This record gives sequence, structure tokens and C-alpha cells, in this order.
Amino acid sequence: MTASATRVLVLNSGSSSVKYQLLDMRDSARLAVGLVERIGEETSRLVHTPLTDGGGKRERTGPIADHEAALKAVAEELAHDGLGLDSPELAAIGHRVVHGGLRFSAPTVITDEVMAEIERLVPVAPLHNPANITGIRTAQAMRPDLPQVAVFDTAFHTTMPESAARYAIDVETADAHRIRRYGFHGTSHAFVSRETAKLLGKDPSEVNVIVLHLGNGASASAVRGGKCVDTSMGLTPLEGLVMGTRSGDVDPAVTFHLERVAGMSTDEIDVLLNKKSGLVGLCGDNDMREIRRRIDEGDQRALLAFEIYIHRLKKYIGAYYAVLGRVDAVVFTAGVGENAAPVRAAAVEGLEELGLVVDADLNAVRSDAARLISPGYARVAVAVVPTDEELEIARQTYALVNA
Ligand code: ADP
Repeated sequence: MTASATRVLVLNSGSSSVKYQLLDMRDSARLAVGLVERIGEETSRLVHTPLTDGGGKRERTGPIADHEAALKAVAEELAHDGLGLDSPELAAIGHRVVHGGLRFSAPTVITDEVMAEIERLVPVAPLHNPANITGIRTAQAMRPDLPQVAVFDTAFHTTMPESAARYAIDVETADAHRIRRYGFHGTSHAFVSRETAKLLGKDPSEVNVIVLHLGNGASASAVRGGKCVDTSMGLTPLEGLVMGTRSGDVDPAVTFHLERVAGMSTDEIDVLLNKKSGLVGLCGDNDMREIRRRIDEGDQRALLAFEIYIHRLKKYIGAYYAVLGRVDAVVFTAGVGENAAPVRAAAVEGLEELGLVVDADLNAVRSDAARLISPGYARVAVAVVPTDEELEIARQTYALVNA
């Protein structure tokens, strides 16, 4: 890497999509952002937005066969803006990798050995790690000389004590199959808990925070002094809060029942709980905007779905309050957390005895900034902190290659 290399490309590779951002780490400025979706279909689409000279959004539609073709198209778009991936200014490529197991508690430069370990984790992340691996291989082929860094969704949660991470099942069976709570969205929980400390004018080591990452996927975490001590997602991202399409917590015996009584296969149950449950299963919609619109029109199914979502959220706030003992802030983030004021208000309603109050006027403000929504007198801060997983991945990647 040359001294002038200050750019980081962040790649988030899904099974049929690649999201990317190019950042300049001198000032964390975004130079370009984009997305390739429906890879492998006839109707693939690339949306690229250069942010350097106010150039507008560009779109390509038509078949993009695989991840290699997708990354090639991205490289062409970047080159068009004078930001080509062959530039000596590119310092590294940072990859979001969903599952790092117990081994990876920090961002890691990708070697053959690291790749082998990410592959070894495929059985515990069958939906995510294979796509991440494909993304890494494709990027390596394109710039074999460049450091490629893996930033793991699970890393922030590796500080959880065994009492939180272990399920109460037979230890030998659990260990043989690496069954335990890993947690996900860690990059977001790390970023948001740190930004919350900043908002409170404190060092992360001084504050205890409950982070509520409410996107289409949703998870809560309890963070004590900058370290995660519990989180709601488990072996997989299915556990915990009610999500857009995932059930979150259910009695595990529901799955036996579905198999024995409803005659469903394991794969069918997997699809039911991951794709057809949560808000979409309860009311047919997983977009909180649509659910709120339906509630305003008097739709009872949408109202019940909202109430179930809030009930679960409140249970986790209470549980993590008890886990932490002292809470300095409860913070909302991601699509729902950052935008849905009614969710924030309902989640802490009635929790005044715990020191939790939302100021209706502050809560109604729409803003992209990190902000407090609790009144000045409140014992516990309630905050909205926009998450920025790409910036966090870029920061961690850049810090590692400059270490
Ligand atoms: P993910 O990264 O998990 O796909 P996001 O964090 O982008 O999800 O969140 C997407 C969700 O955020 C949408 O499904 C929708 O429910 C919610 N959302 C986005 N904008 C708003 C809004 N203005 N009001 C309410 N909910 C919103």
C-alpha cells in the first residue's frame, strides 16, 4: 500500500446482490455508493451513484450472470467516475462477513487459512457465508495484490459471557456442533453503542447501553462499558425480536409440532419461520410504514401485528435492563428504529419507573443526526442514532491495513 492510498471499497455480498461503497478515509467521505441486485436473473439491475462531483445516479438493467460479472460492472462504473479499482489510491477492500464463529473477534486480513475457516463456518451460516465467500474470491481475482479484510457480523458479540452465550442443552452435543449464541448485526451494535457514548459526551467504557437495531432483520443487545454482554440473535439470525419476515423467539417445540402434526419438512419449516413469519406472517406486510398506514385506517390485523412487535421489544428492554443493572441509554437504530416514531414511543411507554421517557416533540423530529428523544430530566437517555455499517467496516479495514 502506498502512503497516498486512502480509499477503501466496502463490499456486502448477498446471495443475489452486492452492495458497495467507496470511501476516502482521510475524511470518511463517500465517493460512490451502489447496489447490484437480482444477480443471475434476466432482470439484474445495477444502480450506481457517484458522490464526488454531484454526478447523478446511473442505472444498468439486463442480465448480470454472476458475482464476477457484477463486480466487473461495478469496476466499470467506478472507472467512469475516475475512481477505478486499479487506482493506487485504493488501500484495501473490506468485506462484510456474516459469521465468524468464535475464532474471529476482530477484523482480519484474509489469507487462505482465514478463507478456509470462513468456509468451515458454512454449516452454521448456510444462507450467508457462501455469498460472502464468493464476493471475496471475486474481489481477490480482480486485485490479488490488495489487502482484503473480513469484518464479521458476529465479532462484537464474542465478548458475551458463557452464561449468556450458552444454550441450556447438553454440553457435548452443543460443542460437537458448535451450537451457541453468536449474535449478528455486530458491526451496527458496535458503531451505534460507540456513537451513543459520544452523544452523551462520555467514553464508551463509561456507559451501559441497550441497542435496538430495528431493520427488516432486528436485534437487541446489552452493551456494558463498550462490550457486548448479551444479544437477542442466536446460532442464526432467527432468534429474538419479531422481525419483518422472521418469527424471532418461539417455543422450539413448535418445530416438532409442525413436523409431526402439520407434516412439514425441515426446509418448509425453515422457510416458514425465516421468510413467512414476523410482521409479514402476522399481517401480510413487513414494511412498518404500510403497517402504520393500515392501523390509521382501523385495520385490526395490522394493529395486532404492531402490538406483538412492541410487546416483544419491551420484553427485551426489560430483560437487558436487568442484565445491565444500570442503564445510561436505550438507543434506536436501522430503518424502523431511525424512522418509526410510533415504534419508539410505544416501546418505552409505561416504563417511567425505569427512568425511561420519550419526549413527544423530540420524538417527532425527522433527522439524519444522532439525537436524544428523552426529556432533559430523564434518568436514562433515549436516543436515535443512525447506523452506518459500511463506514464502520471501512474504518476497521483501514485501521487494520495501517496498523
Ligand atoms: P435491512 O438492512 O434489515 O434490510 P433497514 O434497516 O433498511 O433494513 O430497514 C428497512 C425497514 O425499515 C423497512 O422494511 C421498513 O419497515 C422500515 N422503514 C424504512 N423507512 C421507514 C419510515 N419512514 N417509517 C417507518 N418505517 C420505515
